[in-house]
Amino acid sequence: MSTTTAIVGQTVDVIVVGGGGAGLAASISAAAANRSVLLLEKEPKLGGTTGLSVGSITASATALQRRAGIVDSPAQHFEDMALFAGELAVRDNLELRRLYTENVPDTVAWLENLGVVFFGPMPEPPHRVPRMHNVLPSSKAYIHQLWKEARRLGVKALLNARAQKLITTGGRVTGVEAVVNGRIVQLNATCAVVLASGDFSSGRELKQKYLAEDIRDIDGINPASTGDGQRLALEVGGDIVNGDIVFGPEIRFVVPPVNKLVECIPPSTQLARIMRRSLTLVPSAILRPLLMMFITTNLAPSPSLLQKGAILVNKLGKRFVNELDKPVYAIPRQPEQMAYIVFDNKVAATFTGWPNFISTAPGLAYAYLADYKRNRRDIYFQADSIRALAHAFGVPVDALAQTIAEHNRSPAGQAAPLATPPFYALGPAKSWIAIADGGLKVNANLQVLDRSGQCIPGLFAAGSTGQGGLLLEGHGHHLGWALTSGRIAGRNAARATET
Ligand SMILES: Cc1cc2nc3c(=O)[nH]c(=O)nc-3n(C[C@H](O)[C@H](O)[C@H](O)COP(=O)(O)OP(=O)(O)OC[C@H]3O[C@@H](n4cnc5c(N)ncnc54)[C@H](O)[C@@H]3O)c2cc1C
Repeated sequence: MSTTTAIVGQTVDVIVVGGGGAGLAASISAAAANRSVLLLEKEPKLGGTTGLSVGSITASATALQRRAGIVDSPAQHFEDMALFAGELAVRDNLELRRLYTENVPDTVAWLENLGVVFFGPMPEPPHRVPRMHNVLPSSKAYIHQLWKEARRLGVKALLNARAQKLITTGGRVTGVEAVVNGRIVQLNATCAVVLASGDFSSGRELKQKYLAEDIRDIDGINPASTGDGQRLALEVGGDIVNGDIVFGPEIRFVVPPVNKLVECIPPSTQLARIMRRSLTLVPSAILRPLLMMFITTNLAPSPSLLQKGAILVNKLGKRFVNELDKPVYAIPRQPEQMAYIVFDNKVAATFTGWPNFISTAPGLAYAYLADYKRNRRDIYFQADSIRALAHAFGVPVDALAQTIAEHNRSPAGQAAPLATPPFYALGPAKSWIAIADGGLKVNANLQVLDRSGQCIPGLFAAGSTGQGGLLLEGHGHHLGWALTSGRIAGRNAARATET
């Protein structure tokens, strides 16, 4: 992806920090309001967690819903979101939930206009009707289409550009100090700065401060999600809401290695349309292998694999936990913080068809064992004996043989023996925090608020950085929020010469 080189040290109307979904959306809407926009991204490429995600957006009153004959409304979506929250419901930000549900239909239409193609909507109870829209061919399509539009509107992006401090003048945020390719530069914004730098799932300092003791040391999936925007705003008086709420920890496989063939195919509108047509016409058994090729995210193994008798072993070939008693907390304490799921053919025979899938990419790609064999050769191991299996996935042979022998001696009824060849291992799998929900306190204009609830002039936040206490439980609400809040924050930042 090529980016336009900006002249460092310059003054623009709006500076956006973070080149994921929220930052790109904010850049586009600020540029569409005829403002000059500079986007700072600390990584060598745009994308963020948005580009690593599964890619579902949950919305009501969309064209896809209408085409499927589904009658739905933002007001119903607002009500149903509460059903996901359980006991957390009292901590929700209802003003932002209203902002989200009322504006996300427009975001989906806007994305479709830009060339993003969705499949669905898929059901996800307790939503009363299907609302989950899955992007095709993968979440990379968001980044591809959004950057295309941003570039068309004249947005300039600086890569390897890490915002490290906000510049203030008379109490107003007027720019950003950034490290660009190792050089410190000051960048000035005449209208506003939008913080869209993601969450703090990999931010050691903020995790220490906000998360419970048993999860604060668990890695975030995206190492770049270090909560920089939250930290920058705290330094000028901002506040974090719901800092203790996280998605996870959960067990997920490592990401697939880069598929050179797939990487060469741009996530274009044409390709996505062909896929969508195929999804309705071609049997899923034929399509699944193709879809899996495009999945670039960390898939989560279904807990039922462990419930049906698979065990977890570490790099040393040793079992280390009762698999049914929160193994997610034990994996980070193992060598290289990883584990393998080991089972025999009796367990494997269960995971060959609906509803016994090994993993989900919600609504789109339920994957069974055969799909892993075909498409995830990097994490799929099969052998006719335990010793050969140990050899295949690289753990000490004697240790694994002893582990299985001990497991198989468990008193009858406690655990089914793993004794029927062939034997299988899937992994490495790790425990991860997927998303940390602690975002800056914002108002419905996405202006960042200080601890007393007053606006910090010139400062906006969007996406995870500007989550403001909004609960985004279920699938598809985080991306929906990133893109919707980004659009609103960018639009308001463009007008913010005095607010
Ligand atoms: C495996 C996985 C799957 C997911 N699937 C879904 C899904 O299907 N649906 C859904 O709704 N949600 C999903 N989510 C959550 C969702 O992807 C995120 O909540 C959302 O993408 C956040 O968007 P964002 O723009 O706020 O942050 P990001 O997309 O993370 O963008 C932030 C950007 O800011 C950059 N940055 C950080 N600090 C700085 C700095 N100091 N200076 C400059 N740049 C900086 C980062 O490098 C990054 O590029 C998933 C999350 C994970 C981990």
